[in-house]
Amino acid sequence: MKNLDKILNKEELLKEDILFLLQLREADKIEMLQKKAEEVRQIYFNDEIHLRGIIEFSNFCIRDCFYCGLRRSNKKVERFRMSKEEIMVTAKLIYDSDIKTIVLQSGEDLFYTKEDIAEIITEIKSQYDVAITLSLGERAFDEYDLWRECGADRYLLKHETANRNLYHQIHPYQDFTNRIAHLKYLKNIGFQIGSGNIIGLPNQTLEDIADDILLCNKLNVDMASFSPFIHADNTPFANVENCDMQLLLNTMAVARLVLKNAHIPATTALATLDEEGREKGILAGANVVMPSFTPTPYRGNYLIYKDKKCISENPKQCMPCLDLRLMSIGVKVSHSHGHSLKT
Ligand code: SF4
Repeated sequence: MKNLDKILNKEELLKEDILFLLQLREADKIEMLQKKAEEVRQIYFNDEIHLRGIIEFSNFCIRDCFYCGLRRSNKKVERFRMSKEEIMVTAKLIYDSDIKTIVLQSGEDLFYTKEDIAEIITEIKSQYDVAITLSLGERAFDEYDLWRECGADRYLLKHETANRNLYHQIHPYQDFTNRIAHLKYLKNIGFQIGSGNIIGLPNQTLEDIADDILLCNKLNVDMASFSPFIHADNTPFANVENCDMQLLLNTMAVARLVLKNAHIPATTALATLDEEGREKGILAGANVVMPSFTPTPYRGNYLIYKDKKCISENPKQCMPCLDLRLMSIGVKVSHSHGHSLKT
């Protein structure tokens, strides 16, 4: 206990400290870790949780990530693309729900040209006072330039794992160095960047997870997402066991201690692993929730992993449910844009 207390009160955690904390399993020690993470969250964000409304507008993807249900080799997915008009109707729904960030997310789908995306950004920005996050995978640098010029504020591109070998095992045709170069470029041209990992990948070690947190710190990310591996049908990892919930919560809590004022989401994937997963994530230091506004029936076909939560509900029904869930753990929804606190 004395050792744990000493680590929790350090200004900067070393890798060995992170490893020690990730391994905690005794209830009283986990409680101490989570309490500290909550304390740090409150210093920067009080009791306010930022909502980001997601529009998953296309499930086409040119990539073949081993863990993902949307990978191009999966021929059993019913593919969809939303039109610009459908995206705008959904953006209005998010704005009308008093959510100040719209996340435009898709598989890596080159069907939408840089001009198409620029037009969507410009139209949303001209109609609504919202921040825009893009999550479109790796695109050309000149495309990032244009989208930033049109007013997109943030770009989410997870590094997935800081272990190069593991990275190449799960992304057979992608390059880790390139991924990091994209993140650095995005940051340099003024995007608030989001990165993060997947926890529970085959052959992943605790050391890899510690490196993921440290890499996010080194990249000075504005947002860091630590999400659980959940197996998807018709993928090479279909029979791999799902992520261990406690390891995930420990990772989020440690990430809060290391990354301090970065935004950390309690992802919908947490709710898939555990009915109260998002609430547990917030109690472990998360400060962001990202409800999906993807219209039915599309939302049922955006299945990166199996048994995704909240796919049959109408997006309008999700908000009251989410409000109640947040109130039940003593936090409230922020009405600000929730921009980065990093300098
Ligand atoms: S994780 Fe993203 S890039 Fe990889 S296959 Fe799935 S949608 Fe495509």
